[in-house]
Amino acid sequence: MNRRTFLRNLAIGTAALGMHRGALGAVAGEAIAHRPSFTLWQLPEQTPTQMMSYVIRTMNDSLIVIDGGNLGDAPYLREFIQKQGGAVHTWIVSHPHSDHTDALATLLSEPECPAIGRIVASLPEPAWIEEHEQPALEPFQRFLKAVEEAGVPLHEVELGETMDVEGVRIEVIAVKNLEIHANAINNSSMAFRVEDDVKSVLFLGDLGFQGGDKLLAGPYASRLKADYVQMAHHGQNGVSEAVYQAIVPKCCLWPTPAWLWENDNGGGKGSGPWRTLEVRDWMARLGVTNHLVSKDGLFVIH
Ligand SMILES: [Zn+2]
Repeated sequence: MNRRTFLRNLAIGTAALGMHRGALGAVAGEAIAHRPSFTLWQLPEQTPTQMMSYVIRTMNDSLIVIDGGNLGDAPYLREFIQKQGGAVHTWIVSHPHSDHTDALATLLSEPECPAIGRIVASLPEPAWIEEHEQPALEPFQRFLKAVEEAGVPLHEVELGETMDVEGVRIEVIAVKNLEIHANAINNSSMAFRVEDDVKSVLFLGDLGFQGGDKLLAGPYASRLKADYVQMAHHGQNGVSEAVYQAIVPKCCLWPTPAWLWENDNGGGKGSGPWRTLEVRDWMARLGVTNHLVSKDGLFVIH
């Protein structure tokens, strides 16, 4: 999805913490997680387009991948997975937008596709997508076709479901919201916690304010608090400030390219229509000073 497509989607309704710059190895903050725990990487976009891609390695070296990015992110992701052993235990898809699914769909269609144990997601029916967000139908069908042809099991999660991957606990705290038709697919993002006894990470996908407010008003609001949060919808026009106030993160994970981080449509910082600077202000008000932004490259959290 290019920047113009991203804008169109908006129009539709549309660490601190043992972290460092991965490949560069420069420590970006002081460590608080000294005990053994899973490793989390935030992968950088390989094209100018926003995307979201995370890889988790359990202490037994199994891999969990979250989303993966666009078509242009596929080669980097393939190589990254290969370097970590080449097999993925669980692949989580937060929601079926192309900047989250196209890299996976591409890998699935290649003969050298990594072994993938299962894909877990909360997916609307194609007819619902056609009715409420027609432009997303084609990439969604491309994704479904790739999954089916690759023969990878697709597990539809339920609200409240928990999964344990070698001591890494995954808890689903939000699933598709078929009654929300504004910003439809983003508001149907699966939100989930990934944690062990050392650290917790909350993933929000591209959840919008309607889905975020529903989560906040529901029984899983008490499960929002986390050490790390993946900033919703690439850091802007996602959940409301109140959701972040319930999370009170120590560190923010931003799947956000430079132009979006600076709200720069080509005319300099602040020149764009995006709300990233506002969200950055929210996090400053919360006292968060640790920000890992994908524009700056690969980050690893231990
Ligand atoms: Zn999205």
